[in-house]
Amino acid sequence: MSSKANECLNEVKAAITLAEKEAGRASGSVCLIAVSKTFAVEDIRPVLEAGQRVFGENKVQEAMKKWAELRSDYTDVELHLIGPLQSNKAKEAIATFDVIHSVDREKIARSLKSEMDKQGKQVRLYIQVNTGEEEQKAGIAPQDTDAFIQLCRDELGLSIEGLMCIPPVNEAPGMHFALLEKIAKRNGVEKLSMGMSADYPIAIQHGASHVRVGSAIFGARDYS
Ligand SMILES: *Cc1c(COP(=O)(O)O)cnc(C)c1O
Repeated sequence: MSSKANECLNEVKAAITLAEKEAGRASGSVCLIAVSKTFAVEDIRPVLEAGQRVFGENKVQEAMKKWAELRSDYTDVELHLIGPLQSNKAKEAIATFDVIHSVDREKIARSLKSEMDKQGKQVRLYIQVNTGEEEQKAGIAPQDTDAFIQLCRDELGLSIEGLMCIPPVNEAPGMHFALLEKIAKRNGVEKLSMGMSADYPIAIQHGASHVRVGSAIFGARDYS
């Protein structure tokens, strides 16, 4: 298990380095988030042992359970919430995560702000944009994003580190990455969380600062 995880992690890291080079970007400019959702603590340990420290989870409860234990052994871990968030979980989310990628409505933004104040903890925030305007998908509509960024900054006093998107499964992702990049630029937002196992090299071409890679590192997920 250990050597397999190590091998996959190294392959992904090499592909990132190559994509950075091809895009004319500095080596090391892209941060790899290893998405460990659905995987058990025993599956995650070898990846930690291989030196990876930035991880993504999509559920607050699952992350709390798994990472309480892992974090006591690896204190320099950085944990990212990449899944949708309910405002009744804001307290746990702020306590558990260092970065949240799924801010997509005023209610959530307000709850996160109030929890950060209460807990005296700064969590880095990304706004999720529903670039494909899909009914079933979380994220704010592209045409509402500028106003929402303004609201977060001016009214709530939140600093927005980046934007995040998940392109529709059956479409070429490049258009969606380009749209996210454009919205970020015109709003002076610095970071872009985009690209998963199937498309992270394309995301890097479009300026991704963070890629979220799960199955290419951990293998196929079993949801049963
Ligand atoms: C699961 C997930 C990923 C990782 O997907 P892979 O295809 O396994 O790399 C990335 N981003 C989000 C938001 C996810 O939910």
